[in-house]
Amino acid sequence: MDLSVNNSNLAQIDITDALAFENYILEQQQVFDSKIAFGGYLEKRNLYQRSSHFKSEVTEERNIHIGIDLWTQAGTAVICPLDGWIHSFKNNDAIGDYGPTLILKHQLENEIFYTLYGHLSLESIQNIKIGMSFEKGQQLATLGNPSENGDYAPHLHFQIIKNIDEYCGDYPGVCSLSNLDFYLENCPDPNLLLKIKTLK
Ligand SMILES: [Zn+2]
Repeated sequence: MDLSVNNSNLAQIDITDALAFENYILEQQQVFDSKIAFGGYLEKRNLYQRSSHFKSEVTEERNIHIGIDLWTQAGTAVICPLDGWIHSFKNNDAIGDYGPTLILKHQLENEIFYTLYGHLSLESIQNIKIGMSFEKGQQLATLGNPSENGDYAPHLHFQIIKNIDEYCGDYPGVCSLSNLDFYLENCPDPNLLLKIKTLK
């Protein structure tokens, strides 16, 4: 699904309204006869202009999306894509932010990296403890609804993070053009892990 500034259909709907947005996604799913809409890595979006979370007087606007979004119904199970353990979690509860968020730490051979899961249900972070382990295929969380997920149509924001610095339960999911080179290197295409095939 194209949510970039290049999609002129988005100008027809009120993208600040989670319900209107969810309806648009449902229409797209019907058009493509699918249960889940996805996309968005490196997409430049207008979506963030509604929220002060992404704007500041002194810094450049952040509008380039550096994760992948998977859009489907609230309550849908989020399944762990590979073995890992809880690095951190937090409810990032500003409008337009992630809402409940989990970050897993992974080790593959000698490589340590992280995966972030944003826009979850509040329930998903209730009984979580740092260090808890999850296996590939195990249910990790469920998708949140707009009242808990930062006021978006229900979706998962999934992102790979190589070096997480001091971040805890949060990490930028959108960057500005001047920081793009850094984030391209630090947050590679999440589809490297998910391996979703695109319909052509
Ligand atoms: Zn996202």
